[in-house]
Amino acid sequence: MYNKKVKIIATIGPASNSYHTLFELAKEGVDIYRINLSHQPHDEIVRLVSDMRKVEEKIGRPLTIMGDLAGPKIRIGKVDKNVVLKNNDKVEIISKAVLGTSSKLSVNYPTIIGQLKKGAEIFVDDGKIRMVVEEEGKEKAVAKVVVGGPLVSFKGFYAQGLSLENHGLTKKDREDVALMVKAGVDALAVSFVQTEKDIEAVKKLLPNDKQLMIIAKIETAKAIDNIEKIIAVSDGVMVARGDLGLAVPMAEVPHLQKQLIEICLKKAKPVITATQMLESMTNNPLPTRAEVTDVANAILDGTDAVMLSGETAMGKFPVETVKMMAQIITSAVPHVTRREFDHEQAVGNAVSSNVGHVADQIGARLVVAFTHRGKAASRIARHRSQQSIIALTPVKDTLYRLNFSWGVFPFEINPTKGFMDMVDQAKNIAFKNPVIKLHKGEPFVIAAGMPFGQTGTTNMILVEKV
Ligand code: ATP
Ligand code: MG
Ligand code: MG
Repeated sequence: MYNKKVKIIATIGPASNSYHTLFELAKEGVDIYRINLSHQPHDEIVRLVSDMRKVEEKIGRPLTIMGDLAGPKIRIGKVDKNVVLKNNDKVEIISKAVLGTSSKLSVNYPTIIGQLKKGAEIFVDDGKIRMVVEEEGKEKAVAKVVVGGPLVSFKGFYAQGLSLENHGLTKKDREDVALMVKAGVDALAVSFVQTEKDIEAVKKLLPNDKQLMIIAKIETAKAIDNIEKIIAVSDGVMVARGDLGLAVPMAEVPHLQKQLIEICLKKAKPVITATQMLESMTNNPLPTRAEVTDVANAILDGTDAVMLSGETAMGKFPVETVKMMAQIITSAVPHVTRREFDHEQAVGNAVSSNVGHVADQIGARLVVAFTHRGKAASRIARHRSQQSIIALTPVKDTLYRLNFSWGVFPFEINPTKGFMDMVDQAKNIAFKNPVIKLHKGEPFVIAAGMPFGQTGTTNMILVEKV
């Protein structure tokens, strides 16, 4: 669990929000808990975060908590229990808020009803349910079900030609940011980002002493056009394949995933691959071969983290799903190939790119990296060498940030007092750590920066023995 390299994010919901299941998920390999604010009622969040911290304490490794802001997503309203839409059912989409049934639905942005044009296809729940508009109207549209299925509250609602252009942060998002800061989460994911301004707007809401890690969810066509600028101001990226597959032709998603991962590696920013990774395990104890292959391929593409959504939030087999994910990771990681990045002429870059080469040439299995804000460790990690990386940092926030990074096990230390103290600390941890057991006399590589205590100074590779 400490050395599986690719990080697992699990969305927490009714199927997983007890202390017991949170613990089981972490035990099987979850590194990051995701709280989806589109679905999670406020009254439970404080209890949830407190239980997550208790699990972290018990399990003895950092567990990161990420709040996922709802963003301006069009969703259906609350739906009555056990509603199933059948093919050819006629459904009214109305502006009044009602409890949804198989004949009447409301949406959270009623003004979009007027945009539903006759003949347009409607996708509910990432496209699992499909309808076609038969009657238009400002207050009411009527659609015919083409592909039916069970209808669940607050699922996404998307139709051709529908848009909430330049919506920016919603009132709910602003309230949720404040709530998340107060609850003490470590990271925020921003939904439906269109430009870098959407990320900057969230950062502005954060207090100076609580700059949470900001992950940009890439799921609009506009975000793809502005990708470089968005990545520049974000701390990480999520390839949010669900809504992305509606915003662009679905067949483009695999290539976009590869491109986004490549750009993130180049910038040394962590990247998450998300949505439907083991979807069928929501209801089945085993995934499909195609899903297993998808997870493995995302890892071969170089993703830092893989994410589970409904599988762990509301599925029947949350713990089994994480177990399966961890097994796929363990099998795929040895096949990941090393990458080179020679585009930047900078000392930190040159040092971090050679750490893996040095380790390879002497057969070292462990790299110990001293880091402040985590940049040094993520620069080493982006090469995807096979060595384990233990990142040592005196900055607590950095532990939680590095939990997103490929192959990095973050560990808190006291600030180093000088060269010998640094070497001693590295040797102690190399000798005794939960990640990898080295035998007496085995070499390992240290990456560090002098002078100590300054950020961005990684300028040293040192080979030591335990
Ligand atoms: P997003 O686009 O933000 O990912 P989503 O609606 O696809 O939103 P996921 O986080 O991917 O949601 O989770 C999948 C499903 O799990 C949700 O659609 C919802 O039905 C359920 N879910 C997630 N979190 C909760 C929760 N806290 N309470 C109830 N159901 C939840
Ligand atoms: Mg989404
Ligand atoms: Mg989703």
